[in-house]
Amino acid sequence: MNLIFLGPPGAGKGTLAAKAVDILKLPHISTGAIFRAAMAEGTPLGLKAKAIMEAGQLVDDETTIGLVKDRLAQDDVGGGYILDGFPRTIPQAEALAAFSKVQKVVNFDIPDETVLERLGGRRVCRKCGHNFHVIFDKPKTEGVCDHCGGEVYTRDDDKAEAIQKRLEVYRAQTAPLIDFYRAQGIMVDVDARPPVDQVVENFKKALGV
Ligand code: ADP
Ligand code: AMP
Repeated sequence: MNLIFLGPPGAGKGTLAAKAVDILKLPHISTGAIFRAAMAEGTPLGLKAKAIMEAGQLVDDETTIGLVKDRLAQDDVGGGYILDGFPRTIPQAEALAAFSKVQKVVNFDIPDETVLERLGGRRVCRKCGHNFHVIFDKPKTEGVCDHCGGEVYTRDDDKAEAIQKRLEVYRAQTAPLIDFYRAQGIMVDVDARPPVDQVVENFKKALGV
């Protein structure tokens, strides 16, 4: 199944995707994670993305589309994929349609105040990318990942000004995708407000799995 996770930053897309990988046996492809890995490695892509991401802006469509096209051409994608954080603009969605057939779009239904609470407390493992939260999902030892022992840090784009900017960018550039995909009849809405286990149940019900 070719799936897109659509929702504002902090909606819980990455967290649900980590669970959905086990349920659906599909690879989780997060463009944000690809950019963060490139930044950590100091590759040309990472150097290009760094300032843009820290300012809460979007990396240009051409770069991002090229990256996803290459990723979807890899062998592990044969049985489908979970795309998290892409597409984020109408041109990205149009480009995607030309090289892959999206079957379902999962729309994360969540109010702004919940998003702000989640982004403000998000912590991430620098090594494996696992998401934590200072209130809802604390690492057992502060600053240390439960899964791989990596350093748990606050993303630069989870600082207050960048959060505001990212929500503005979401409303202006990404939210129009809700109507774009709803018009195609492939959208399913998932109530993303409850605790993670309940969101997983809502997701399974919405997809009929
Ligand atoms: P996104 O990938 O949509 O930007 P994340 O999956 O990174 O969002 O989640 C943002 C923050 O909210 C993380 O700190 C995560 O631990 C926390 N979180 C995710 N889902 C839930 C939930 N259902 N209830 C409470 N906290 C959550
Ligand atoms: P995320 O991990 O999905 O919150 O993404 C983090 C950041 O990476 C975003 O704020 C953007 O700067 C960049 N990014 C991720 N996905 C895209 C995309 N599809 N288009 C443009 N920029 C992206």
